[in-house]
Amino acid sequence: MELFDRADPVITAEGLSLTYQSAEGETQAIRDISLSVKEGEIVSVIGPSGCGKSTLLSIISGLLEPTSGSVKLRDGGRIGYMLQKDSLFPWRSIYKNVMLGAEIMGDKCGDCAEQLLKTYGLWDFRDSFPSQLSGGMRQRAALIRTLVTQPTLLLLDEAFSALDYQTRLAVSDDIYSIIRREKKTALMVTHDISEAVAMSDRVIVLTRRPAEIKSEYVIDFGSDRPTPIKCRSLDGFRRYFDSIWRDIDVHV
Ligand code: ADP
Ligand code: MG
Repeated sequence: MELFDRADPVITAEGLSLTYQSAEGETQAIRDISLSVKEGEIVSVIGPSGCGKSTLLSIISGLLEPTSGSVKLRDGGRIGYMLQKDSLFPWRSIYKNVMLGAEIMGDKCGDCAEQLLKTYGLWDFRDSFPSQLSGGMRQRAALIRTLVTQPTLLLLDEAFSALDYQTRLAVSDDIYSIIRREKKTALMVTHDISEAVAMSDRVIVLTRRPAEIKSEYVIDFGSDRPTPIKCRSLDGFRRYFDSIWRDIDVHV
């Protein structure tokens, strides 16, 4: 018996607003944001720096309580959260870093950690320390650490922005194919329009702070969609880019 209907969204956020209170006063970061992500979808939320993207993701992950609105994760759902900095612990080996999430959750998931490290080319580096790996490999290790906890929904907060441009292209291709192969559902935030279009089934554009939803695009590159890097040279790519560029208010 299925506990849930597969057509149900993995996550549904309704009417999210958040106002930060600090000594300097109030800052409204997000206003009345509603969205949902279906199983198997990769959805990007894009908006200018400081508009409230990380705030939105933190609320969805449950780390922050919204001022109003609600988040509903499908029954039995688990969230894996991957941040901009790979946030691997420098004093732990790659293997021990990858096992960290599972340890915290009290899972013994040595087998699946080994499997993922082997599949994604990090097994030979299991005893290395993060400083001995390239930025791209560290990012892959961080993703594997997140996957080891068997999340239903992956949240990625500007997961590639700390990498140099070439590496970022390669790593986003890499991470994209891992997410697809492992049949994961992902909600990512980015300020990079090309990255959003290249990697996502759907792109949600936010306004400047306080972030509200400005527009939404279904990204359709056909049924046998090429990898993110190849998507970038398709005709349709530029059209999506131009429309989103117009929607994002970058002017000061
Ligand atoms: P983004 O991720 O889109 O760059 P953030 O969600 O990090 O934006 O921040 C949105 C706004 O909220 C910014 O103006 C930021 O300065 C402010 N902000 C973020 N965190 C806090 C906090 N803990 N207290 C007060 N203001 C905050
Ligand atoms: Mg941010």
